[in-house]
Amino acid sequence: MSVAEQLEHEGLSSDEESQIFDAIDKWLERDVRPVVKKYDHSDEYPHDIVDQMKEMGLFGAIIDQKYGGLGMSAATYSKLVIRITEVWMALTGIFNSHLIMATLVQRFGTQYQKEYFLPKFASGELRGGLGLTEPNAGTDLQSIRTKAIKSGEEYIIDGTKTWISNGIEGTCFALLVKTDTHIKPAHKGMSFFIVEKGDGFTVSKRLEKLGYKSIDSAELVFQEFKVPKQNLVCGEEGQGFYQAAGGLEIGRINVAARGVGIASAALKDSIRYSQERHTFGKPIHKHQAIQLKLADMATKTEAARLLVMQAAEAYDKGDRCDMEAGMAKYFASEAAVDCSLEAMRIHGGYGYSKEFDIERYFRDAPLMCIGEGTNEIQRMIIAKQLIARNPI
Ligand SMILES: Cc1cc2nc3c(=O)[nH]c(=O)nc-3n(C[C@H](O)[C@H](O)[C@H](O)COP(=O)(O)OP(=O)(O)OC[C@H]3O[C@@H](n4cnc5c(N)ncnc54)[C@H](O)[C@@H]3O)c2cc1C
Repeated sequence: MSVAEQLEHEGLSSDEESQIFDAIDKWLERDVRPVVKKYDHSDEYPHDIVDQMKEMGLFGAIIDQKYGGLGMSAATYSKLVIRITEVWMALTGIFNSHLIMATLVQRFGTQYQKEYFLPKFASGELRGGLGLTEPNAGTDLQSIRTKAIKSGEEYIIDGTKTWISNGIEGTCFALLVKTDTHIKPAHKGMSFFIVEKGDGFTVSKRLEKLGYKSIDSAELVFQEFKVPKQNLVCGEEGQGFYQAAGGLEIGRINVAARGVGIASAALKDSIRYSQERHTFGKPIHKHQAIQLKLADMATKTEAARLLVMQAAEAYDKGDRCDMEAGMAKYFASEAAVDCSLEAMRIHGGYGYSKEFDIERYFRDAPLMCIGEGTNEIQRMIIAKQLIARNPI
């Protein structure tokens, strides 16, 4: 039975969830693990794997079943992301920012937008991501300069976006722009459009990176790019900043889950290696220095996993979860960085070798501290919520 068939009804029993994960695990071991190094080291886009992801319905993982998606809860989705990341983190980037775009439409879109875009997003016919960041504005989104000026039945968009995941291979993006450049505070003049590539939309640069290989990151330029007004998310100007905040929660939970996946992979490899590698007549796990590392890595990984589940469950209940998602994202991404470095130390020289996976975890992990809101910002969100939820 295909993953899509197994998920044909809302809500999964633990048996159904484990059947799906069995199918995912088989796919990861059979089709993904053997080729990860080849793709990562050549920085080549994995078209064949993306086709399989399409067939399995992963581009619709959290899209409602009535629009052709799998209808996964955030909790199930997080577990899926952890599993895939344990084998190859970059794959989850191919569908995560795509699913944030889908979440924006699902939560805030007009009926037309839901009916037109969601089935195409779920099938993978339209794939893409999220266009927030600009050369001059990442964290400080209110400073973006890309603007959309209304002209009859359409908007004309001019500006530049950078670091856009799936910018080359994707065809459709949720674009954050200014529809009013004078209003104060500036966030009241921000709006989202769902845009498909066309005249006036060019990919100006492919960006080279330390890690997160194979997935395309690009600079996008818009020059007199025309978008129908029916593509303005929710049909009302000025809602973009709030919608970004809402959409990013699922993105943060996803990044946190990726952090758990990297930490867990680093731990599993280290547990195995510490039993295989002998020094001074015994396996290295018998040295107390290695035991301390394994214990710290395992504790951080499990704590991160629990924080991700707590955030995902709050999201699924519809509770406010900015603090929970922030804690999960902050802790899990730092755990990924710590565990990948500790795994490298445990593996000695082999940790630095391209023949092992550790060097990839080490290159991929720091992105989790940056993407979907840096960890500095997460800590500020956590602190603000602590005060807001505990007034005296
Ligand atoms: C591989 C990759 C993929 C990406 N994918 C996407 C994508 O698909 N779509 C997209 O829109 N963006 C994407 N980004 C961009 C990413 O979201 C931004 O890099 C991130 O938001 C940080 O913005 P910045 O790089 O401009 O850093 P800045 O905002 O310039 O921050 C620089 C430093 O200052 C700190 N800082 C900033 N403001 C404050 C403050 N008020 N208080 C305390 N500290 C502060 C930050 O934490 C950081 O340490 C991607 C980035 C990378 C590297």
